[in-house]
Amino acid sequence: MRILVIEDEKKITDFIKRGLKEEGYAVDVAYDGQEGHFLAKTNKYDLILLDLMLPKIDGLTLCKKIKEEDPATPIIILTAKDTVKDKVTGLDSGADDYLTKPFAFEELLARIRAILRKKDTKSPTKLQVDDLVLDLLTHKIRRGGKEIILTAKEYTLLEYLMRNAGTVVTRTMISEHVWDMNFDTFTNVIDVYINYLRNKIDADFEKKLIHTIRGRGYTIKG
Ligand code: CA
Repeated sequence: MRILVIEDEKKITDFIKRGLKEEGYAVDVAYDGQEGHFLAKTNKYDLILLDLMLPKIDGLTLCKKIKEEDPATPIIILTAKDTVKDKVTGLDSGADDYLTKPFAFEELLARIRAILRKKDTKSPTKLQVDDLVLDLLTHKIRRGGKEIILTAKEYTLLEYLMRNAGTVVTRTMISEHVWDMNFDTFTNVIDVYINYLRNKIDADFEKKLIHTIRGRGYTIKG
């Protein structure tokens, strides 16, 4: 899951970015409305966190713009404005949710999870491929009843593969959804992480779930 944070206060972006990365999200940051608009147009984000008081393009204008160009990308507005009128204006401009600063990080995480679940029409709380089960709420992974411990990045990669189970995901798709914009697509980092996952998920089992599709990418299937 890749998230764009558009916010000009560096203290807040650092705090959000660090927290989200610890949860395994890939995070890009823009410090003004123009840069935010550019990134939202160029990359595929699963969710955007948007401040209202921004240099160059203000948050409400930007929210409308992004929603016109890409209605499917959910937007959560983060702002110090907390009057009812401001909330209504924010939601009327197309935002999916609204969070008033200062906020508890746990609340931000819960709202992000809720929106990402809503986006998923089936609203699953678990993903399953054969005897491999990933719990989207607790982040616990089990194969054949045995718990598997993954790092945050490995978890995000596995979640992405499992959300697309049975279909081939290319390295480009993986880099767009699992890594941030500083990711160098010419490195073999994705292959390295696939190997980490294989060691944890497939090595001890006769039936392999992660498959390489030569020249195209990877797939996970039972
Ligand atoms: Ca601001």
